[in-house]
Amino acid sequence: MPFGTGENSSIEKQSEVRELGDWKDEVEEIVFPGKISVPYSWTVGSTLSKWYAQIRDDAEIWANKCAECGMVFVPPKIKCINCYRDMNEWVKLPGTGTVETFTVVSYYEPKIHPRKPPFVYAVIKMDGADTGLVHFIGGVKPEKVKVGMRVEPVFEKERQGNILDIRHFRPIA
Ligand SMILES: [Zn+2]
Repeated sequence: MPFGTGENSSIEKQSEVRELGDWKDEVEEIVFPGKISVPYSWTVGSTLSKWYAQIRDDAEIWANKCAECGMVFVPPKIKCINCYRDMNEWVKLPGTGTVETFTVVSYYEPKIHPRKPPFVYAVIKMDGADTGLVHFIGGVKPEKVKVGMRVEPVFEKERQGNILDIRHFRPIA
């Protein structure tokens, strides 16, 4: 029997059932606000896992280099953004860099920022790499931070395998 054409078809049976929202025609709908917390975990993948493990285990910042165009990325990429080639070559960076741009955060938002204000986020052009790394500038008052400032990393003693294993970058004395 063709779908939906017989007396006993499921479509005809469903048409006799009231719609889910029909009760709202007869009763005032009362609505309470709710909130759902959704903790989750995600994998950072093979490339970033290797990068974070290097920081955690050896307090070293590595980058990866494209064999085709020679561009060096930190944080590392799984594919070159220019050539879309696999990135298999790793290079150890000295860790030093130059502040390219920065912002001073002055408001408290613990769900977004892992530090209490005031603190400085900066894009640091890492020596030996072609890209910038976003991280904190510390060990200096925010008003003393300047574009072009030379910085070096300060690593946490107890490292967990995440970006905060680098406590911050501080000015090179
Ligand atoms: Zn490339």
